[in-house]
Amino acid sequence: MVTLEHSEIRKIKEYAKINKVPIMQDEGIEYLTTFIVKHQIKKILEVGTAIGYSAIQMALVHDDIEITTIERDEERYLQALKNVKKFGLEKRITLIFKDALEVSLNEEYDLIFLDAAKGQNIRFFENFDRNLKKEGYMITDNMNFHGLVFKEMESIKSKNLRSLVRKIKEYHTFLEENENYTVEFLDLGDGLAVAKKK
Ligand code: SAH
Ligand code: MG
Repeated sequence: MVTLEHSEIRKIKEYAKINKVPIMQDEGIEYLTTFIVKHQIKKILEVGTAIGYSAIQMALVHDDIEITTIERDEERYLQALKNVKKFGLEKRITLIFKDALEVSLNEEYDLIFLDAAKGQNIRFFENFDRNLKKEGYMITDNMNFHGLVFKEMESIKSKNLRSLVRKIKEYHTFLEENENYTVEFLDLGDGLAVAKKK
């Protein structure tokens, strides 16, 4: 398949590269957008907007898709606002500038995409579980953490990194053991967990 990349999308990717913003990898985005089509996803909650890249990509899949996305970093949030406006998507993408752990929502979503602090996924999951519809999907990015989760713990020199890797592994187990969900782990992009609510 040949995809013509929107020049504004290319600019956002360029900005992310220069400013070291960890946006989703191409493989992950391709999976996510295809997933949205396949499962006819309409309402999405994203945790971790960064500069709006993945939210915009998801919104571009279909014009009846609505996204709420949360970011706690002000500079990124402001950049995301600008980017969303550039695409004229401000009616369909709602940006919340807040720590996701302090956000409490009442609506229900077809898909919740967790792509914020890797070490806090259990907490994000627990905070938003009630906002996911029955048979909805909770998708989490960065499950592989650049391959670090496959390494021997002792070979990871930094204590902080070891602690993060431990937390990702704990989240992996948490998902597997969660009886309300069935989960699949995919080696795409930086590793995705796709959990379906029963
Ligand atoms: N989804 C984006 C990338 C997100 S990068 C994309 O692919 O385009 C992760 C973002 O999560 C960072 O910008 C970081 O500031 C944000 N983040 C981390 N912890 C958070 C929290 N507790 N609440 C809100 N945002 C958080
Ligand atoms: Mg990510």
